[in-house]
Amino acid sequence: MTNIEISVTTDYKKRANDYVHEVYDLVKKRNPDEKEFLQATREIFDSLRPVFIKHPEYIKNGILERITEPERIIQFRVAWEDDQGKVHVNRGYRVQFNSDLGPYKGGIRFHPSVNSSIMKFLAFEQIFKNALTGQPIGGGKGGADFDPKGKSEREIMRFTQSFTTELSKYIGPDVDVPAGDIGVGRREIGYMFGQYNRLKGGYEAGVFTGKDPNHGGSLGRKEATGYGTVYFVDEMLKAKNLSFKGKTVIVSGSGNVSIYAMEKAMQLGAKVVACSDSDGYIYDRNGIDLDLVKQLKEVENKRIWEYTKEHPEAEYHEDRSKIWSIKCDIALPCATQNELDEIAAHMLVANGVIAIGEGANMPCTLEAIDLFQEHEVLFAPAKAANAGGVAVSAMEMSQNSMRLSWTVEEVDERLQAVMKNIYASCIDAAERFGHPGNIVVGANIAGFLKVADAMVAHGIN
Ligand code: NDP
Repeated sequence: MTNIEISVTTDYKKRANDYVHEVYDLVKKRNPDEKEFLQATREIFDSLRPVFIKHPEYIKNGILERITEPERIIQFRVAWEDDQGKVHVNRGYRVQFNSDLGPYKGGIRFHPSVNSSIMKFLAFEQIFKNALTGQPIGGGKGGADFDPKGKSEREIMRFTQSFTTELSKYIGPDVDVPAGDIGVGRREIGYMFGQYNRLKGGYEAGVFTGKDPNHGGSLGRKEATGYGTVYFVDEMLKAKNLSFKGKTVIVSGSGNVSIYAMEKAMQLGAKVVACSDSDGYIYDRNGIDLDLVKQLKEVENKRIWEYTKEHPEAEYHEDRSKIWSIKCDIALPCATQNELDEIAAHMLVANGVIAIGEGANMPCTLEAIDLFQEHEVLFAPAKAANAGGVAVSAMEMSQNSMRLSWTVEEVDERLQAVMKNIYASCIDAAERFGHPGNIVVGANIAGFLKVADAMVAHGIN
């Protein structure tokens, strides 16, 4: 390299670094106190420096400034009446973050912790995750600070209908297509779909995904996020001549993602020994009885400690964060954001963990991720690893448009192909941008490039 070439490269590097710093400062200033949103933006910003060195046109087009500001945030009152006739008010949200690749797409969360920061971080992550699937979908997320725990079925229905009455003004099959997330499953999607159609006076099948397969849903959607996470981790293992067979696995949570991550890991020959809920975790050294977990969680809506009634040999512990102290080969955090911190990461590393797959969104803190990378633990980041759910949701949209349904085998085959493809794009992007093997960087860059190119093509808006 000549002196001139070196100085040009240094200039580009400096410009890229300055740009990332400046925009991050701006994001911090604009969103003070939104710690989850700032965490999600920082994680992606850290990966993008090499992109701006190669693509100064993104700087010129203000991509980072634009991509970190939601196109629209809708916040609304949700009033509803409980079984005793008392009126309650919750706060509802829909964050329509980016529509450059297609209609906004992302789940609805009902959980008391829901706030603007959590909605924005989830919607922001969704942009890149959706891009990675290769499907024509933009990024969004919504929810309410409503706690479904302890509510009767009728209360949940009334709340969901009230929520949908307002939400319905802003969504549609070609505009914004919500799905489920924490606290929102097939039942709630059914209530939303019914209320939406009632208000619109028609039947718009493609307005929600995650519907019951008997009423317009895709087969395989319920399993897709958990299965997809395991397919992704399996790709990562295969690249090192490893597999799930004979491995000890722990999975946090016992909801939709966790249950199907456990099921697929078991199908691939692993022994899953622990899972949890927000109260505590169970450890069954003989291997988790998944039929019982499904019965407790999917059918009876019970707490995880009740597992020990049927299996007294299993242990129940109240401190759910200690689930990571159990010795395992593979850990799949599938419950919620920031559930696996640096302390937990230290325990896993000390116990010889070989791979982590994020089934939940942002379950590992930045410090935990750094530690895993430092110790060369294989790490599958959420926006790649848990993209199977939204990928099958996009398949549901296609089936609804075509008015036909694919078999569960067909959906599963497509899901496996999508996960393989995402893995390959992450590896390829990491390699091309100077971080070979780093799937965190690869996922951020691969997702970002797709959206950034569309934003350049669509002009400044
Ligand atoms: P569910 O509501 O079905 O299950 C959530 C599980 O996590 C429950 O076991 C719940 O326990 C537990 N949990 C919730 N909050 C906490 C907490 N603060 N601490 C410990 N445990 C907690 O949700 P999903 O399985 O659908 O979602 C789980 C994660 O996966 C979320 O991060 C979600 O955003 C992500 N995700 C989901 C997708 C999907 O298709 N459903 C797609 C992609 C990502 P409890 O019952 O006690 O509350």
